[in-house]
Amino acid sequence: MAGPVTPAPRGGPVVIQPLRRRHCARCRGGPLALLVVEGGAPRCLDCADLGHLVFLPRGDTALTRRSREESTLSAVVVRFNRRKGRYERQGVLVEETGLVRAEERCLADAEARRRRRARDARRRTVADVRFAEAFAAEVRRLFPGCPDDRAAAVASHASVRGSGRVGRSAAGRALSEGAVMAAVVASVRHVDTPYDALLMSGVARHEARRRISGDVETVLRRWRGGGTVVEGEEEAG
Ligand SMILES: [Zn+2]
Repeated sequence: MAGPVTPAPRGGPVVIQPLRRRHCARCRGGPLALLVVEGGAPRCLDCADLGHLVFLPRGDTALTRRSREESTLSAVVVRFNRRKGRYERQGVLVEETGLVRAEERCLADAEARRRRRARDARRRTVADVRFAEAFAAEVRRLFPGCPDDRAAAVASHASVRGSGRVGRSAAGRALSEGAVMAAVVASVRHVDTPYDALLMSGVARHEARRRISGDVETVLRRWRGGGTVVEGEEEAG
């Protein structure tokens, strides 16, 4: 019933392309194209804090290697081959900025350029731009002290079509305060704390979250307070 044994983590989290229809044990989203197994239960990438990563299919060895080098956090994507009785590598999940840098290093590679154009086109649809603007406005309303470029980056991630990220679930639901909060917290975790490095070094997700929770709170408190630094505003603790 448990199915095949999940391969041991090696070089970051392992993400599985399930053979059967699976739903996230936490948010019930699905069926999932990609999932992480935690405590024997499937989780979607958002609930496993990997929702900001982009999928790079196997096939371009140089681009794969460079993308992982350029990403603080990356994951191997595998699928179980029933006939061979083993997991097979399907590609990797890497940071989009890491992928862009890797593509720049592979610029002679026409295939990489084609993929990049396709991704840019997806991102630039009018609906996505409108959605990202609304999302960014909501981020700034809730966090007046959040720098504009960060609000824009969070909103852009949230609006990438077809990624299964929080922003695309449904525009109305995605603009809820909870969803915007979740997107901001995820961004702070990945950008302003050593969370990704902890995951890559093999620290369990919940332990990593525990270690960085103070850092996250500090940033959120600063962003909630507005852009101005008031003398003596810092309280003890
Ligand atoms: Zn989930």
